[in-house]
Amino acid sequence: MIIVMSPTATQHEIDNVIARVTGAGLKVHLSEGKLRTIIGLIGEKKLMAQLPLEAMAGVEKAISVTAGYKLVSREVKSEDTVIDIGGVIVGGNNLVVMAGPCAVESREQLLESAQIVKNAGAQFLRGGAYKPRTSPYSFQGLEEEGLKMLAEAREITGLKVVTEVVDIQSVAVVSAYADVLQIGARNMQNFQLLKAVGKSGMPVLLKRGMAATINEWMHAAEYILSEGNFNVMFCERGIRTFEDYTRNTLDLSAVAALKNLSHLPVIVDPSHGTGVWKLVTPMAKAAVAGGADGLMIEVHPNPAEALSDGSQSLTPTNFQTLMHEVGLIAAAVGRKMA
Ligand code: PEP
Ligand code: MN
Repeated sequence: MIIVMSPTATQHEIDNVIARVTGAGLKVHLSEGKLRTIIGLIGEKKLMAQLPLEAMAGVEKAISVTAGYKLVSREVKSEDTVIDIGGVIVGGNNLVVMAGPCAVESREQLLESAQIVKNAGAQFLRGGAYKPRTSPYSFQGLEEEGLKMLAEAREITGLKVVTEVVDIQSVAVVSAYADVLQIGARNMQNFQLLKAVGKSGMPVLLKRGMAATINEWMHAAEYILSEGNFNVMFCERGIRTFEDYTRNTLDLSAVAALKNLSHLPVIVDPSHGTGVWKLVTPMAKAAVAGGADGLMIEVHPNPAEALSDGSQSLTPTNFQTLMHEVGLIAAAVGRKMA
């Protein structure tokens, strides 16, 4: 349920409504827009049904939300969400770049990668310490040792760290080293994990499941927001279609759709989205032109030697080219590269 207050509602009337609904055992999410205040109700539907909301002073209308999500939607919050991650701003007019290797492979590889992406102008270092691999025989990641290397790279470069958390048990340890918790495509509907990262209060990068609709993806984000954590970014990383030239089909229409449906920032990962390094820069440019708030790009000092995803990883030179070309597009669409 969403309570839309009248533009002329007084603070006293707003406070009254909040007191009434919280008194009935519901939680509220307040969105104070320029024109009006919107009160999102969180809790059991039958408690809401018992309240004479539209009879209360200052209430314009009470809308029952039939979708299973509300906190993620623009109806509840019309202004874009802007997330401050240790001084790096995601959302609004900013364009952020998260870059680094698919996996943390060694201290040398990671520190070199960090320097490369920092020098080219990225704000975040990415790199998996826990890798959800298709085969159990593939490199599984360095786990906590890898997290320590990420933290060291942050210390040296000042880059923020985004890294994947694969299960509930590792939320605490990943939170201790990272700035952003990444939920991978394979875990987008791991609802217990979504609740756990919601409770952690950490910024979350929620990747799209490889067979998830936009609607399912928004529901997944709602799990995190419903725990009181509004620091969520969507990350489009391609979906599985009949096309097999590319690893996945990068769905750039999802960026525009999400920007309409939701107030949360949208990041695009053209590396997993295409699986082909030559396609990464063109798709990165298209994503920025289409309204993405940021990019996630796999970069490796030597892609030919990478332990995972080498064929979609950019060399240092190719990454510099990407940053230069994306910068031109960003300027054309009024985005500031943070
Ligand atoms: C990754 O970013 O390294 C990754 C595993 O991505 P995805 O979950 O999108 O496959
Ligand atoms: Mn990868």
